[in-house]
Amino acid sequence: MQQPYKNILVMGAAYGGQAASKILAESIAKLKGNWRIVVVERNTHFNHVYAFPRFSVLPGHEYKAFVRYLDYCKKPGAFLQLNAQILSLASHTATLDRAFPEHGIPTPQLKFEYAIYALGGSLPSPVNVWGPRLDAKLRADPATADIVGSKPSGCSWLQTAQSVIAAAPTILVVGGGALGIQLATDTAAVHPGKKVTLLHSRGRLMPRFSQEMHDEIMRQMAHHNINVILSERLDMQSVAEKKTNKAGQRVVRTVLGRELAADLLVRLLFSSLSAALTYSRSSPQLLCTGQKPNTEVLATLDPSLLAENGRARITRTLQLDAPAHEHIFAVGDCADAFNALCAGHNAYYQAQLAARNILRLIEREEDPDTEHEALELYEPLPPAIKVSLGLDRGVMQTGNEPLVISDHGHDDLQCKLMWEFHGHTIKSDDDMRE
Ligand SMILES: Cc1cc2nc3c(=O)[nH]c(=O)nc-3n(C[C@H](O)[C@H](O)[C@H](O)COP(=O)(O)OP(=O)(O)OC[C@H]3O[C@@H](n4cnc5c(N)ncnc54)[C@H](O)[C@@H]3O)c2cc1C
Repeated sequence: MQQPYKNILVMGAAYGGQAASKILAESIAKLKGNWRIVVVERNTHFNHVYAFPRFSVLPGHEYKAFVRYLDYCKKPGAFLQLNAQILSLASHTATLDRAFPEHGIPTPQLKFEYAIYALGGSLPSPVNVWGPRLDAKLRADPATADIVGSKPSGCSWLQTAQSVIAAAPTILVVGGGALGIQLATDTAAVHPGKKVTLLHSRGRLMPRFSQEMHDEIMRQMAHHNINVILSERLDMQSVAEKKTNKAGQRVVRTVLGRELAADLLVRLLFSSLSAALTYSRSSPQLLCTGQKPNTEVLATLDPSLLAENGRARITRTLQLDAPAHEHIFAVGDCADAFNALCAGHNAYYQAQLAARNILRLIEREEDPDTEHEALELYEPLPPAIKVSLGLDRGVMQTGNEPLVISDHGHDDLQCKLMWEFHGHTIKSDDDMRE
């Protein structure tokens, strides 16, 4: 009789989770026990969020950012992907929002031996396809409300963002991180008649990178007629006042008292743990939430597993930093990973390392008398970033290496490459529609 499955649970199937499950799938046939990889993901498709800012402005490409998942495990029965939300966690059990009797999981309780926690972080509001809808009609429509996490819902969310941005003659973007820069330059490039202002509290844009990067971004801001205000912070009191001018624009102030009026206010606070989004048709405004790590589920296991910044406390082996929970690893944006930049490539490398370490632990378990390799230790890579500056230009830098300026862009940011990376053959755009 076949032994019951021993599950390796991968929570989340994005840049981190997906990389981990691929490594596990490649090696699972070599293990002796009846191991099975179970991936739990609330989205029906891989959400390629790098392209979300562009597609929240430029119409016609949204579908390309939602990549169909494929089963890439060659061992029959050893891989299962469940479209579900994880609600809570105990030491060896995850509670899902539904059961899967068709897969031998009769209750929402899923048992596991090892797990990788890769639930990432919440998306900032202008692109948060899981957040409140940006227009009242869609928000009230139950037909769209129940399919959050599906490709049609994600596409319609981005289309709504496009129409909200298209309808606003003046836009104030608050927060000059990569997303603010991309949103401001894409908006100005797609809608050249709009008045776009970028407000940033620091004196330099992208301060983890070189002065040359700042200078090039400023040149492109000028090229697109974007008004950039540096070293001034938004006065939150002025936001709460909800003042409008005679033209019906929202009026806010900086802490230095400068008044700014705009039809649409996009506020990007990546480090904020607060969340507030309001949008009203009578007084158009879009206040954007900050990003926060998705560690609420981890806190149900033990709140002391979270660091002060809300991320998961981990060791260099990427295991939870608690002897009772060393069988659980945390990677990507939800992990406090030794000052690594929150970036897709870092989630990817961390997840691969965590998966290899799980395989080593299983090998030790299965062959206790053999000498085994030590677990791998994680060392962050130097920070690396690529920022688009409108449709045709971009800058790229890795660590202290020279800045790379590119002057040929792709409207769809070459999403095709992400589909191919996930195992699809893409001959034409239509191959990305489902
Ligand atoms: C707009 C934007 C643009 C970006 N551009 C770049 C870029 O160009 N280059 C770059 O390197 N980085 C970029 N980043 C950063 C990068 O996207 C993140 O660092 C990366 O997504 C982290 O990957 P992750 O797997 O840790 O988490 P995520 O990508 O956040 O994935 C977490 C997964 O968990 C799922 N999930 C969450 N909660 C639950 C639950 N309870 N139950 C089930 N599933 C759940 C989510 O649906 C999601 O699929 C960008 C980020 C944003 C927001």
